[in-house]
Amino acid sequence: MSCFVFVTGGVLSSLGKGITSASLGTILKARGLKTTIMKCDPYLNVDPGTMSPYQHGEVFVTEDGAETDLDLGHYERFMDCNLSKHSSVTTGQVYSQVIQKERRGDYLGATVQVIPHITNSIKDMIERAARINDAQITIVEVGGTVGDIEGQPYLEAIRQMRNEIGRDKVCNLHLTYIPFTKSLGEMKTKPTQHSVREMRAIGLTPDIIVCRTQKPITTEARNKISLFCDIDRDKVLEARDVECLYEVPLMLEEQGLAQKVLKKLSINSEEPNLEEWKTMVSLFKQKKNKKVKIAVVGKYIKVADAYISITESLAHASLQSNHGLEIVWISSEQVEKDGTEKLLSEIDGVIVPGGFGDRGIEGKIQTIQFCRERQIPFFGICLGMQCAVIEYARNVVGLEKANSSEFISDTPHPVISLLPDQNGVVKGGTMRLGVYPCRISENTTAFSLYQTSLIYERHRHRFEVNNEFRNLLANKGLIIGGTSPDGQLVEMIELKGHPFFMGCQFHPEFKSRPNRPHPLFSGLFEAAARRSEEK
Ligand code: GLN
Repeated sequence: MSCFVFVTGGVLSSLGKGITSASLGTILKARGLKTTIMKCDPYLNVDPGTMSPYQHGEVFVTEDGAETDLDLGHYERFMDCNLSKHSSVTTGQVYSQVIQKERRGDYLGATVQVIPHITNSIKDMIERAARINDAQITIVEVGGTVGDIEGQPYLEAIRQMRNEIGRDKVCNLHLTYIPFTKSLGEMKTKPTQHSVREMRAIGLTPDIIVCRTQKPITTEARNKISLFCDIDRDKVLEARDVECLYEVPLMLEEQGLAQKVLKKLSINSEEPNLEEWKTMVSLFKQKKNKKVKIAVVGKYIKVADAYISITESLAHASLQSNHGLEIVWISSEQVEKDGTEKLLSEIDGVIVPGGFGDRGIEGKIQTIQFCRERQIPFFGICLGMQCAVIEYARNVVGLEKANSSEFISDTPHPVISLLPDQNGVVKGGTMRLGVYPCRISENTTAFSLYQTSLIYERHRHRFEVNNEFRNLLANKGLIIGGTSPDGQLVEMIELKGHPFFMGCQFHPEFKSRPNRPHPLFSGLFEAAARRSEEK
């Protein structure tokens, strides 16, 4: 039977609950404890797959093809694990399950209610994640803040679990925000007091409070939190702003977070082994030579979280290098307005990431043409690869109207299209999702980077390179470097005689880890670093 650490948040959203939860996971795992982690999202969507990246940031895809919250990406990167659909619960899923049961008559005529039916379903899902992962400790992050109407059933389920499985098997960690008022020069604890009061109203008391703060918390603030929130002083920890996210586990370890959690759960453990982690963090903080400028040319560039796994993958790739990384965010619509020369001539490498819809597509295609012709290292991911195929078809093969049938359904040259058996698909859960094998041809850049011919990568797309145009493209020099093992689906493209020109239909960014950068991102970064040296 697993123990549980419930992580709730107060005062503000986007405080870094995901990073705090992932960091706790890191330091528990470093003690050899079998730890898993999951997220409960109180919104009514079944999953974030249909939500706009403007609202929700990136959609993170698990190996088994679940479209999940971006926090699962943090969990996987911090804890170096692969999670599954069971690690992501939403109110949409909970209600769907309860309504299905009701329709089947499983409730035997009972009136179906939030308590007990919704809360039971939540508890089942939490326990299922613990069981499936055979975990000794399960960290459960509850999205949103305490006091949100949508979050109440989750808090109630947590309250019930504590009674059912025993108080010594449950630890409540609450993350709050401590504002600092410049005019008074004071740290304010009142928002924390209110948020803890809100928790208490539902029957929960925090065992540990982690305070997000810009400066170290003063003794006075700590005393106040201890007094008003009825918590020992040594259970009030701080999470200060840090230069690099991967420092957070070390900062929390230093304050004894893991020991305090384990004491509450009556678990003994070995000393943590965080040596590799510390080396990685010191590499991150090392002052580097010249910065390599990598542009991400996309649609959602105003929302930092929309491409978070790509940002992290680039950072991982730069870690071993003596070059620093500077990501330049460029809107593909801006490229359409200002032109490639103005926006891209100082850039050392370009990523065109995944996406949906036709806005800014021509800007992406122009960007790719510029990279191809000017020998600028280029990496196209999913839609980015599809745009590279369109660009090649138009400007090298001579199919002027080449396009994806996603954007122009009756284009005469649908080089990207749905497969014949895919016609009639609708949005929401109809994509090619999750991990699929890809066979890489030898003598390709892809092969030299991966050092193997069979790879497994995660997908999230509907459209494919149209096989009717494959020979035409290949005859004009586009290398199909990787396909599905049956050869039917194009998975990777590249060019010869270019410093780095790579496209993949899958999303490698979901598999990069801080201590194990993804080979394709390393390939791009190294090529871009060489270019920056030559300048
Ligand atoms: N819109 C494209 C498709 O559905 C690409 C998707 C993506 O980039 N994730 O195939």
